[in-house]
Amino acid sequence: MFDVEKIRKDFPILSRKVNGKPLVYFDNAATSQTPQQVIDVIVDYYHNYNANIHRGVHTLSQEATDLYEQSRQKIQKHFNAKFSHEIIFTSGTTHGINLVANGFSSILKKGDDIIVSALEHHSNIVPWQMLCERTGANLKVIPMNDEGELVMSAYDRLLSKNTKLVFVNHISNALGTINPIEYIIEKAHDSGAAILIDGAQACPHIKPDLQGLDVDFYVASAHKMCGPTGVGMLYGKEAWLKKLPPYQGGGEMIAEVTFEKTTYADLPHKFEAGTPNIAGGIVFGAAIDYMNSIGFDTIAKYENELLQYASQKLLAIEGLKIYGTAKNKTSVISFNLEGIHPYDVGSILDKLGIAVRTGHHCAQPIMDYYKIPGTIRASFAFYNTKAEIDTLVEGVKKAKMMLS
Ligand SMILES: *Cc1c(COP(=O)(O)O)cnc(C)c1O
Repeated sequence: MFDVEKIRKDFPILSRKVNGKPLVYFDNAATSQTPQQVIDVIVDYYHNYNANIHRGVHTLSQEATDLYEQSRQKIQKHFNAKFSHEIIFTSGTTHGINLVANGFSSILKKGDDIIVSALEHHSNIVPWQMLCERTGANLKVIPMNDEGELVMSAYDRLLSKNTKLVFVNHISNALGTINPIEYIIEKAHDSGAAILIDGAQACPHIKPDLQGLDVDFYVASAHKMCGPTGVGMLYGKEAWLKKLPPYQGGGEMIAEVTFEKTTYADLPHKFEAGTPNIAGGIVFGAAIDYMNSIGFDTIAKYENELLQYASQKLLAIEGLKIYGTAKNKTSVISFNLEGIHPYDVGSILDKLGIAVRTGHHCAQPIMDYYKIPGTIRASFAFYNTKAEIDTLVEGVKKAKMMLS
């Protein structure tokens, strides 16, 4: 039985007040909150194991190394990767995408096509634009429709023998749309193209099966799934990771260094130059354990209840419009009040202790599509409640009264 009140007790921050009101945290698509079980692992690491990894003969270093590598295996198992060396620790999704984009600068040639979607976060747009500038490749865009879904017939037409790489998000952070990535992956492969999926927004809600998906690259951030900031993962199929050149040079990523020639370390270390976020890597595994202890089926079912409840209540407010009405979506609601700037609504909600995000959500092309400056975004996690949604609805009504 899913008991939200019991789960909320795991999250110390949920009992604090903001502006004298109980915090209502609805900015989960930007970052999730951290349960005590995960905070304990951070503290335990610095109390008992803090040492640099993969280098020392001493006990602390070996213990820290073991914990770090066990966490990598945990991540491998969670995402169903074939090998643990296909999991590269990164500083987050943005780092993972830049690593792959940099690698492709030695593969792409002038006239090659790479395909992005209209629904992307800036971090899955800008590194590829930089790559196009360096290589002369063309960036093509899968368009979206009014519901906030990608138009698959247009995708089919964009694919050709010139297509080298496709990169789309699994779930849109701005609208919550779940993209048909099975289809997108299969079609990319049919054209001989590689495919990267940005899973930053998917991993807090579902458990992807990477071998089942047959995806070439998949990226995620720990901080969106109850873990700390500054750590994430890049999954790459072994053959691809062997093919791509290293991203950064330094310690840890080498086999042998002389001034004449340096050879690189084996996977995964080839892509992990320098001292990594050791505590973060270990804690990432603990965050995954925590989420699995609740269960992703339970999480998805409960969050969908919150989504349906909030959508219905918000739509009852006159002049309120929801952007992103895909059939398949997660618990993200982007909306505006007619004639009122989203920032003004967000400021009033903050006074009431309600944390939402306003603006373009790092996805300006989506806002341009709808010809709006931004939206108010309420994004729910499994530790949110219907009572909190009622507070939001009352807050939006109040903001509307004050601002119109
Ligand atoms: C949050 C997010 C990113 C960026 O993640 P960082 O942790 O900031 O690197 C990229 N794509 C999507 C879909 C996101 O939601």
